[in-house]
Amino acid sequence: MKGSISPAGVLERMSSAVGNPGIPSPLVAGTDPYTILVGTVISLRTRDAVTEVVTKRVLKSVPAVADLAAVSAEKLSELLYPAGFYNRKAAQLKKLAQILISKHHGEVPSDRKALEALPGVGGKTAAYVVSMAFGVPAICVDVHVHRISNRLGIVKTASPAETEKALMLYFPEELWTPLNHIFVKFGQKICRPQVPRCGECCFKEWCRHAD
Ligand code: SF4
Repeated sequence: MKGSISPAGVLERMSSAVGNPGIPSPLVAGTDPYTILVGTVISLRTRDAVTEVVTKRVLKSVPAVADLAAVSAEKLSELLYPAGFYNRKAAQLKKLAQILISKHHGEVPSDRKALEALPGVGGKTAAYVVSMAFGVPAICVDVHVHRISNRLGIVKTASPAETEKALMLYFPEELWTPLNHIFVKFGQKICRPQVPRCGECCFKEWCRHAD
């Protein structure tokens, strides 16, 4: 990034540009870990409005880990529709619940490595769960966070894992957890993947990618 904007200033500018990030209610900080884990798996490749409706419907039918392990894959697929990859997610969530019961006493682990060993849970989902469900500072790096931070020149990285490490050095720890939602909204509204709206962007004077 040309010139100087503080790390906190970067988030403040983005936040002012997009307003309230509007997180689906099952995914807000402090919600119980089971809800956040299931909701985060459902949210992958799924619009926020669909995540909200589908997660509530699924949790109404399978309110506890044991219910999720016992429900049929067919029934779960029906509940998950129209979330993206609903058939695959049904199989993953059932298996995930069975592993929680067999290895974690039916509880969602707060350890990132243990979470990443669960079906359908990668580094991004694990970071989200530890930060939002357990209050452990973590940066959830999805395609928006990876793309925008590279465009801005905050990082120069080839993978989300590298981006996470670089952003942990760039941003102070208290900003790690909130930054995902702000970056995601900024990526949906302004710094869009194919056609970024540089002309109306608050970083156009600084961004090395600005057209
Ligand atoms: S100037 Fe363009 S490329 Fe840079 S952050 Fe803004 S929208 Fe994205």
